[in-house]
Amino acid sequence: MENARNNAAKSLLKKRKLRATPARTELLDVVQSYGTAIPYTKIQEKLADTDRITLYRTLNVFLEKGILHKAYTSGEETYYAVCGENCTAHEHRHNHVHFKCTVCENVTCEKTEGEIRIDLPGFEVETVGVFLTGVCGGCL
Ligand SMILES: [Zn+2]
Ligand SMILES: [Zn+2]
Ligand SMILES: [Zn+2]
Repeated sequence: MENARNNAAKSLLKKRKLRATPARTELLDVVQSYGTAIPYTKIQEKLADTDRITLYRTLNVFLEKGILHKAYTSGEETYYAVCGENCTAHEHRHNHVHFKCTVCENVTCEKTEGEIRIDLPGFEVETVGVFLTGVCGGCL
């Protein structure tokens, strides 16, 4: 495994005040270097030596600490993506949408032009999830 990539994972862990255990560093490195949101089956494939319970726990720590978020879930498959600067250990703030390309099937986090705002009187909105499908720029 390349050192530069591991370092990126380690510095993000440090920022979130998490110890850089081998399981955490490897998982984060796999997600960071994948390019698009990564399906869980791909994570399992790439980390075949990590036992499932450790993997599951590590994923949950990352979800709780604002390091990763679920980009898309379909049936048994969940896609994970790295969070941006706005996410903290206390809350996720995603001002972006998730896009699934029907051709290459990649799921990506995409910034929209302008803020996504949905007003729902009488409710306190905590998360906003917008999911779009279509054809991505690379497949058009
Ligand atoms: Zn997040
Ligand atoms: Zn595509
Ligand atoms: Zn996202």
